[in-house]
Amino acid sequence: MIRWEECCDVLVIGAGAAGMTAALRAHDLGLDTLLIDKDDRYGGASAQYSGTLWLPEHGRAMLEYLERDTRARFAAQAPRPFDGAALGEELLRLRAPSPGTLLMGRMAMTLEETRVLLHRSKGWLGLAAKVSWRYWRDLEGRKASRRDRFLTQGNALVGALRCSLSDRRVPLWLNCRLDQLLIVGDRLCGARVLRDGQWLNIKARLGVILASRQCQAHAAMHPGVPGLYAIGAGTTLGPAMTFGYLAANHIRGNSQQRQGEFTLALTGR
Ligand SMILES: Cc1cc2nc3c(=O)[nH]c(=O)nc-3n(C[C@H](O)[C@H](O)[C@H](O)COP(=O)(O)OP(=O)(O)OC[C@H]3O[C@@H](n4cnc5c(N)ncnc54)[C@H](O)[C@@H]3O)c2cc1C
Repeated sequence: MIRWEECCDVLVIGAGAAGMTAALRAHDLGLDTLLIDKDDRYGGASAQYSGTLWLPEHGRAMLEYLERDTRARFAAQAPRPFDGAALGEELLRLRAPSPGTLLMGRMAMTLEETRVLLHRSKGWLGLAAKVSWRYWRDLEGRKASRRDRFLTQGNALVGALRCSLSDRRVPLWLNCRLDQLLIVGDRLCGARVLRDGQWLNIKARLGVILASRQCQAHAAMHPGVPGLYAIGAGTTLGPAMTFGYLAANHIRGNSQQRQGEFTLALTGR
């Protein structure tokens, strides 16, 4: 008999773009949702990536949903810049972009700005001054930290998703690592996690969505278990987010996708 310390409808493992999208969608479908990440920062690899989406078959529906119901905005499938001030204290828990992608190691740039500066294309000096001015005129931000609050690329996407989770009060537990999936009979019923050094059993009434990029191992150990949704990315951000969206739909019962397809599509088995 398992002793449960926490309970939710859907437990989402991994607060990258895929897990955050799954958690948002699950919440919006009326499900009591808990999102966890092993790190003390959220965003995973998604926060350090350009954020440009490659959209597979069902990606269009996901993009429409994000544009309509969340704070994420896109132009040509790339995230638009996001004002990190909206995150308040949570900005400091957002995984920082790689320093190599920032002007002078601290000033954020859009992809287009990066391209112009990298190639020293026409107007690059003026652009460098503009990027610098954008950074230094944010006096409040400069007083708080050297972290640029003008979020771009993957940081903009993750920042917007985090803000949308806060708007809905969807809990995000950091420093909380999945240790083991808990299976009773032939059904997945929860997970054992280590949170701030303490072991907890979390009951997930309807399912666990693995968005931890290590889901291949977990899914391979428990192939076809009802209630287990493995949505690891493979190589692109688009499918990870799309499958997060689809997995949440499936749990709620308004998707024609079968559970096995998530695992199949993303683990290559
Ligand atoms: C430098 C770089 C460049 C890239 N360039 C491209 C590119 O050009 N094109 C492209 O398509 N893709 C690119 N990618 C890949 C892309 O970033 C990823 O495919 C995408 O971000 C994956 O999103 P995700 O949400 O599945 O995983 P992530 O964003 O990595 O999120 C996974 C989260 O799960 C958490 N986690 C892991 N294990 C556990 C556990 N046991 N318990 C709890 N939490 C856990 C992690 O801490 C992490 O926060 C790049 C990646 C990097 C790092």
